[in-house]
Amino acid sequence: MAPAAGPMVVTDALLVTQDGTRRVVRGDLRVEDGRFTHVGAAAPRAGAEVLDGRRFAAVPGFINAHTHVAMAPLRGIADDRELAGFLEVLFAVDAHRSESDVEAGARAGIAEMLLSGTTSFLDLYYHEDAVARAVEALGIRGFLGWAVLDPELTTQSGRPIDNARAFIGRWKGRARIEPLVAPQGVYVCNRETWLAAKELAESTGSFCHYHLSETRREVHEHEAKTGRRPVVWLEEIGFLATPSVAAHAVWLTGQEIELLARRGVGIAHCPASNLKLASGGVAPVVELRAAGAVVGLGTDSVASNNSLSMLREMHLAGLVQKNQRWDATVLSAQELLDLATVEGARLLGRSDLGSLEVGKRADFSLVRLDHPTLLPSRPEAIVSHLAYAASEEAIDSVFVDGIAVVRARELRTADWNRVRADAEAAAQHLWASRRA
Ligand SMILES: [Zn+2]
Repeated sequence: MAPAAGPMVVTDALLVTQDGTRRVVRGDLRVEDGRFTHVGAAAPRAGAEVLDGRRFAAVPGFINAHTHVAMAPLRGIADDRELAGFLEVLFAVDAHRSESDVEAGARAGIAEMLLSGTTSFLDLYYHEDAVARAVEALGIRGFLGWAVLDPELTTQSGRPIDNARAFIGRWKGRARIEPLVAPQGVYVCNRETWLAAKELAESTGSFCHYHLSETRREVHEHEAKTGRRPVVWLEEIGFLATPSVAAHAVWLTGQEIELLARRGVGIAHCPASNLKLASGGVAPVVELRAAGAVVGLGTDSVASNNSLSMLREMHLAGLVQKNQRWDATVLSAQELLDLATVEGARLLGRSDLGSLEVGKRADFSLVRLDHPTLLPSRPEAIVSHLAYAASEEAIDSVFVDGIAVVRARELRTADWNRVRADAEAAAQHLWASRRA
């Protein structure tokens, strides 16, 4: 990827700051050494590359709080099935994945995310070294969880927890990578695996990421096995005390919501995946937020979404909550944008991400105000357009640490035709393996 850029000033853009008062103002951004040094009125231009921002809204980069980015070549491979049947297909294909096709998939998935305005993502997979290399090459920010499960259930070579420990050791301290440990879920992780993950997270100063209470079947089977619902059980074994982010959290009782909020467990809400896999019910996002839990938004993989667009995810998250509760006031456009930006940053424990404010990392997009889906381009409607209407095609440019990774809808850090060809080649053998 490109070396650190020199100072840059974006002039006279519509700034969707997502700061403490959610200001939307016309103004300048100045970026130096990867951070915002000026946000608002006319910025000093000395020594800076100047970019005319008049046609654009500047928007904080989206934070995708749950995905499996390397699954890009598997889009459409297991549609129209419930979770159990879906996982059966995926596990069969997984057994044929090599580190090089994981890397090809990750590059394609990251390109898709950058082109739709996502600048940070939280991932859960194996062969995460390949994902980390793709992160470095394409210039996104990756929070990369190495999947761990019980040793007798894995297709990984070696013990998953040892693989996770080694992975964290190899990548800790890189500029745009946070390696972490990801116990896959209660259906493949026993008590020892959860506690080993907790110990690893604590000893390396990171956090855990995992799937939680996605389907009724998962909850009921766990209850039958242990006498406890998953959240209560994780509390009783001592796991919840460690910093963590849980994906899905659809099937929760009031007691579990309280427990997750009290323990500071972050929730990655994945509405598209839940709807498509017919998880049933709707995640209690409103109750979780009311209880004080931090909630972000995730796309999950393209095998279950089938997109990595956070614009689509915001739109869907709002509609589902409103319709299911017969209450059009819940999850407002502003709250939806919050979930995709500042709340996502809180979820990841990163107060330097998620908004356009002096001192924060310069992760942002320039969104075309003259795109049909942003008409009328009135400042008071811009948050609504982002939450409910904007097309990915309106995302013109994307910056991570102030470095242009997308300009005029062209990926700048890799040759898209090469990225695409490699991912198509990976798909070729993965789709063949499904039929084998
Ligand atoms: Zn997932």
